[in-house]
Amino acid sequence: MADKGPAVETIVQEPLPFEENALEPHISARTMGFHYGKHHAAYVKNANNLLKDTDLAGRRPEEIIKITSGAPDKVAIFNNVAQAWNHAFFWNCLKPGGGGEPKGKLAELIKGSFDGFGAFKEAFSKAATTQFGSGWAWLVLNGDKLEIVKTSNAGTPVSEGKKPIFTIDVWEHAYYLDYQNKRPDFVQAVLDNLANWEFAASRL
Ligand code: MN
Repeated sequence: MADKGPAVETIVQEPLPFEENALEPHISARTMGFHYGKHHAAYVKNANNLLKDTDLAGRRPEEIIKITSGAPDKVAIFNNVAQAWNHAFFWNCLKPGGGGEPKGKLAELIKGSFDGFGAFKEAFSKAATTQFGSGWAWLVLNGDKLEIVKTSNAGTPVSEGKKPIFTIDVWEHAYYLDYQNKRPDFVQAVLDNLANWEFAASRL
């Protein structure tokens, strides 16, 4: 391993794209402190520890997710790498002063795929609130159509080659300090006030 320089971690936790308190009152700084600083950080740390000295070290997270998805002897690696990826993606889906309706090509695609933004929002909220237990609701691009999917635990559309456009984390740690059991209120607050549709559109 000579001449390789300092070891580079396979999974990197990028800084949040906003201050921890920037999403208040919809998501508190306290929630962000735990969610980003403890939960997300732990997935990244665990992923790197598990990947160290394996032939997956140094590969792109998306590749690792596809390779380990469904592999019985790679469950821990999949869970931690997928959660690291899902959270990094989720932070980009949020911004202070977000919400409202997307514009341009994303608006057109939503109109073409869901009978309008209102119908999309209703269907997305339903997916997010009915995901039983821990998981995620996603807007994905599948071919040239947008779809709403939900995944359990660390599950991610990246496994299936569907391109995530937008997501909401519906694990209890995402909302319990601020909303307790009221997941629907959290989902509505994100869609109405925090959704970063410019980021979503940039994924198309
Ligand atoms: Mn989370």
